[in-house]
Amino acid sequence: TPLDKIRNFSIIAHIDHGKSTLADRLIQRTGGLSEREMSAQVLDNMDIEKERGITIKAQTVRLEWKGHVLNLMDTPGHVDFAYEVSRSLAACEGALLVVDAAQGVEAQTLANVYQSIEHDHEIIPVINKIDLPSAEPEKVKTEIEEIIGLDASNAVLSSAKSGIGIDEVLDAIVERIPAPKGDPDAPLKAMLVDSWYDPYLGVVILVRVIDGTIRKGQQVKFMATGTTHLIDRVGAFTPKLENLPDLGPGEIGFITAQIKEVAQARVGDTLTDAKKPAAEPLPGFKEVQPVVFCGLFPVDAADFEKLRESISKLRLNDASFSFEMETSAALGFGFRCGFLGLLHLEIIQERLMREYDLDLITTAPSVVYQIELTHGGGHIDLHNPADMPEPNKIETISEPWIQAVIYVPDEYLGSILKLCQDRRGIQQNLTYVGGRAQATYELPLNEVVFDFYDRLKSLSKGYASFDYEQIGYREGDLVKMGILVNEEPVDALSMIVHRSTAETRGRGMVERLKELIPRHMFKIPIQAAIGGKVIARETISALRKDVTAKCYGGDATRKRKLLDKQKKGKAKMREYGSVSIPQEAFIAALRMG
Ligand code: GDP
Ligand code: MG
Repeated sequence: TPLDKIRNFSIIAHIDHGKSTLADRLIQRTGGLSEREMSAQVLDNMDIEKERGITIKAQTVRLEWKGHVLNLMDTPGHVDFAYEVSRSLAACEGALLVVDAAQGVEAQTLANVYQSIEHDHEIIPVINKIDLPSAEPEKVKTEIEEIIGLDASNAVLSSAKSGIGIDEVLDAIVERIPAPKGDPDAPLKAMLVDSWYDPYLGVVILVRVIDGTIRKGQQVKFMATGTTHLIDRVGAFTPKLENLPDLGPGEIGFITAQIKEVAQARVGDTLTDAKKPAAEPLPGFKEVQPVVFCGLFPVDAADFEKLRESISKLRLNDASFSFEMETSAALGFGFRCGFLGLLHLEIIQERLMREYDLDLITTAPSVVYQIELTHGGGHIDLHNPADMPEPNKIETISEPWIQAVIYVPDEYLGSILKLCQDRRGIQQNLTYVGGRAQATYELPLNEVVFDFYDRLKSLSKGYASFDYEQIGYREGDLVKMGILVNEEPVDALSMIVHRSTAETRGRGMVERLKELIPRHMFKIPIQAAIGGKVIARETISALRKDVTAKCYGGDATRKRKLLDKQKKGKAKMREYGSVSIPQEAFIAALRMG
């Protein structure tokens, strides 16, 4: 395809503003799929994506419109996947900015728009959902101009749901987004935008060709990993897979090259011709590192091998999570896993439970702490609270901090500021635009990883949005808080906390555990402790009657049923000394009140 006939664009939108619906409409209108083939939502094809309404993996679709090839790049919609987003944006020359006509501009939109502007994109505002009675397109135009600083006078008004404004969107893409630039005669340079594992094709790699041509039968070198591969297939998704002889400059498509693991195909890497290589790789390659760690243990110790296999399989398709074996006194054999963020953690955990049918215990998520040991004992990166050295061996301990931008309607501002304050936040900035406030805070990542996002949403009835980036490590007065059930430490529940919040956290934890652990035939003390010092304590009183007593000894089948039920319940419990703790308690106890 000649360069001047190509348009590459992505869609930026806050969750639920209509990105997927609009994408489906564009595909339908340009004839990529027949009415019958249009399943609910073509781009979101994973169950978890559908349920949560977010895109986890980037997808591209090649559309044809009035003699042009339009490549639509869908970008992941969550802060955890910021690097993938940046590479997808780098592969495009423009973007549609979809804003819900009733909701207006949100924080997530802002963060992505700024990135898009940094990539010099031509941005076309699309005001969607104009069919809603509460739609206020003029007000949203003003917001786009005042908050983002983009000219919205020629915004396209659409209803992706009712099919209004779809041709206008397609025409605007052709007319306003610049054609890509590239040199067909230069040595091949193609950016690796995304990769995933396909059971039939092996690893499929999405590329954006910058210079030169990539073709079937070519030997290509991956410049960051240093490996060479023979390309055995080149093509594009329309969204059906179509084979092509080659991809020239400016084009986006996929290749396969007999690669077995996605870890060999790093997002951001540069592909070049092995025989006639480019002098230097494309800028911007970065190796993504996991930031949140937790232990995953099978509820049933016999499932360990199954867990190992399942985790290995998932890892084939996701190079950004890490795992290594871990043993715990109480939980037995399991894995210490690293993730890009909490959503990423939840996705992996859910897939293990759903797709591989495993019952799992997840230990308290932790960030990576940096510890300097006393007497020149060196430095350690601490991934697991259980490995925390004795306090007298620690010279300093530092934790990662983030800068968060929160966007919230005025009426909820007070409770959001209090939440940030409670989480050791340091306010940087507070501005008002229209009826909304934008608060910028520095926060310790540790205070945010578990439930900050949920709290933010519930305190603001869903209206607040939040985006963050890491800003480095800072020293802190951090201590390890252990939980003892019936005098036995439960290592899965131990966590590293700031001394100033330890008591509140400890108290909340023992109170919740008191509710979550069933009563036994004896009294059970539950304690939170730092070192040997107990900082909070609750007691579960002993059970007085036999469970079966309320059957009046009469009905034998009923009695047996009750006992069976009890036994079943037991399968999902862990024994600590002589105390059984239900599986749900592990996660529930970690949610802060
Ligand atoms: P995404 O999260 O940005 O991908 O949003 P979706 O495309 O999944 O849309 C979120 C919700 O808004 C879904 O329930 C859609 O049916 C609905 N929606 C999308 N576009 C429109 C529209 O133009 N009008 C109305 N009324 N609803 C829409
Ligand atoms: Mg979507």
